[in-house]
Order: sequence, then structure tokens, then C-alpha cells
Amino acid sequence: RSKRRGRGQITVYSREIAQEMKRATQIEQALRNAIINDAVDVHFQPIVNLENNTVLGFEALARWNDADLGFVSPAVFVPLAEERGFIDALSETLLRKAAEAALSWPRDLFLSFNLSSAQLMDPSTAINILSILGRVGLDPHRLELEITETAVMTSAETAHKIIAELRQAGVRISLDDFGTGQSSLGRLRDFTFDKVKIDRAFVSRITTDRASEHIVKAIVAMCDGLDLEVVAEGIESGIEAKKLRAMGCAMGQGYFYGRPADAAATLDCVHNSYQNTGTTETALA
Ligand code: C2E
Ligand code: MG
Ligand code: MG
Ligand code: MG
Repeated sequence: RSKRRGRGQITVYSREIAQEMKRATQIEQALRNAIINDAVDVHFQPIVNLENNTVLGFEALARWNDADLGFVSPAVFVPLAEERGFIDALSETLLRKAAEAALSWPRDLFLSFNLSSAQLMDPSTAINILSILGRVGLDPHRLELEITETAVMTSAETAHKIIAELRQAGVRISLDDFGTGQSSLGRLRDFTFDKVKIDRAFVSRITTDRASEHIVKAIVAMCDGLDLEVVAEGIESGIEAKKLRAMGCAMGQGYFYGRPADAAATLDCVHNSYQNTGTTETALA
């Protein structure tokens, strides 16, 4: 009896797996076409100074709306492009679009762009990125690259070289989703970063969970001691912002300050505040 049930389960699982693979292949084909047709888009979310609410820069976030598949999350299609070997093509399109948009912002605003873990295993990544910036005409000093702990640890030596090459050209490196990876703080010492982004998982609990509050405090203190900049991700309320400010966290990002918006809306936002004040200061909240 149990044998039969077992076999039945295997059939169900393999059917599910087959369906998943079929869907993945469907997404892959649609995404490859979208890249060719320039249909993958990039949106921008402000990163602000928590003391005075001025915008310091924007994080580029990939957006893709397929005619048949509808909205597909980057959390789905970025890993898929990595697995199926075309993350370079996807990333190139995204960085080109993001850099072109950043060209029309005031020059004191930075562009933050996510690198996938596969890109940190590819020795040609640094030169690829720098040549895209060269073609577009964006100063490398205006670019920040967001990488995750897990990504730097899985291919440490190559990642190290890529990071060094990029930093030498003036690109800054942020450690994204900090606190959720599997690295030890000791190993992190081997790498040179400019900024740490505290993961939303901790930030969203600072007003309700004492452990999260202490973890965020400790990260802010550590960054202060190591001369690293620090950004809190996923701020959704004024109470969270106030608490982070009190902890000495200098920068923040989240729906409370602004949701990701397309290039035109982002330019409007930047342009309006620039005209009003003569600086990029803008009161977002
Ligand atoms: P991430 O780099 O950690 O980006 C932050 C994510 O949190 C974004 O989700 C953003 O929309 C979301 N977020 C920002 N503020 C809030 C908030 O206040 N509340 C909540 N609930 N969410 C907030 P998104 O755009 O869905 O991106 C998911 C992930 O996909 C990113 O996480 C990043 O790992 C990856 N990704 C996005 N765009 C790109 C890209 O161009 N290249 C690569 N390699 N990865 C990308
Ligand atoms: Mg990011
Ligand atoms: Mg993040
Ligand atoms: Mg994340």
C-alpha cells in the first residue's frame, strides 16, 4: 500500500517538476526576446539622507511586463537568466538603460546597480561594465555596484579581482542584503567595500522586535568603526525612519521615501526639486 502511495507521489512530483521546467523555458524564451526587442525596463528607487530627506542617488531595479506572462518579478527572471547563461546580455541592457537615465540627473546623484552572483564569477565583468559606462558616457565615480555576501564568498578570488578593478576605476561597492548571507564577519574583512545595505528583514522589525533592533544597532556601529557607509533598506514608516535616525544610520531607502518609478517619473522628481531649491534637496517624506 505504502509502496503504491509512494509511487503515486513520485508521479505527482515529476509532473510538477516537468511543469516548472516548461514554465521556466517559456519565461526564458520570452525574456530572450524581450532583451532583443529592448522590452526589459529599469525603474529607480531613491536612496535618501535620513537627517534631511534629501535624495543622494537611486537604485536601478529591473522591470519586465510580458504580453503573455504579465508582470514577472526580477527575483524570478534574474536567477533564471543566470542559470540559463544569458545574465550578461540581460545585465548589459539594464546597465545601459540605467546609465543613460542617470546621465540626465544632476551629477551629484549616484546610480546604484545590482550585480548578480554569476557576474562575480566571470573575469570579464569589470571590463564589460566599464566599457558600457564608456559608451554611455557615465563617469564611473557615479556608479555603485550592489553585491551580496554569498556572491563574493562563492567565488572569492575572481570576485576579489573584479572588485579591485572596478574600485580602481572609481566605482563604489555596496554589500546588499547585509545580515542574510552565510559569510562570517572575519571573511568579510578580506574584501573592500564602501557601503553596507542592511536587509529589509531586520529593518521591518526594528519597531516590534528587540533582537532586530539590536542587530541593526550593531551593524550601524560596526560600519561607523570601519568607515563604511550604511543604508537601511525597506523603510516603510516614519517611526522606522525616526528610530534609524536615532541609531545614527545615515541613509535609507524604502516605500516611505519612494517606490521604484520609471525613468521619466524619476527625472521629474529630481528636476522639480532641483529647480525649487537650486540643489538636489527634496523633501520626500
Ligand atoms: P534588492 O537589490 O535587495 O532590491 C530591493 C528590493 O526591495 C526591490 O525589489 C525593491 O522594490 C524592494 N523594496 C524597496 N523598498 C521596499 C519597501 O519599503 N518594502 C518592501 N516590501 N519592498 C521594498 P524588486 O525590485 O522586486 O527586486 C528584487 C531583487 O531582484 C533585488 O533585491 C535584486 O536582488 C534583484 N534585482 C532587481 N533588479 C536587478 C538587476 O537589474 N540586476 C540584478 N542582478 N538583480 C536585480
Ligand atoms: Mg539591491
Ligand atoms: Mg537589498
Ligand atoms: Mg533583496
